[in-house]
Amino acid sequence: MLDDLYKYNGDDAMAYDPNNIFARILRKELPCVKIYEDEDVLSFLDIMPQVEGHSLVIPKEAACDILDLSSASASRLIVATQRIARAIKSALKPPGIMVMQLNGAAAGQTVPHIHFHVLPRHEGIDMKLHARQMVDPKVLEPIAARIRAAL
Ligand code: 5GP
Repeated sequence: MLDDLYKYNGDDAMAYDPNNIFARILRKELPCVKIYEDEDVLSFLDIMPQVEGHSLVIPKEAACDILDLSSASASRLIVATQRIARAIKSALKPPGIMVMQLNGAAAGQTVPHIHFHVLPRHEGIDMKLHARQMVDPKVLEPIAARIRAAL
């Protein structure tokens, strides 16, 4: 197994915090504007969107980053990310789609539960700053409904 070949025990390995915000969303202690859920993954809109339709895809497995995610969960996560990207393409028709994934604070990661960002991109529309400006979830709901309808 790939997981046995790669043991991530570096000094900078993060201990998983079961009270991080995504773990709390997974336990339904906190709300989210949901796009998709199955037994392995959850996808919802980013509350501080860098572009319209900025989506997140997270595994249900407790892992801080891509280094300590199991390979089985990594496989399911990327397939789900592709599915969300395709639904975004079909629903919002962006000419480009950016998939982003950050590992560790030094790389800009702010929530210590691994996730992929899926960002619709248009030439000439710059991305807003990362994780800065919160929007009202009511604004996000109609966008999520369009993406859900394209799944
Ligand atoms: P990271 O910096 O870890 O790659 O990305 C974390 C993302 O989660 C950021 O884009 C941030 O805007 C988003 N985020 C942080 N807290 C919440 C929240 O409570 N709900 C949602 N939907 N997104 C969040």
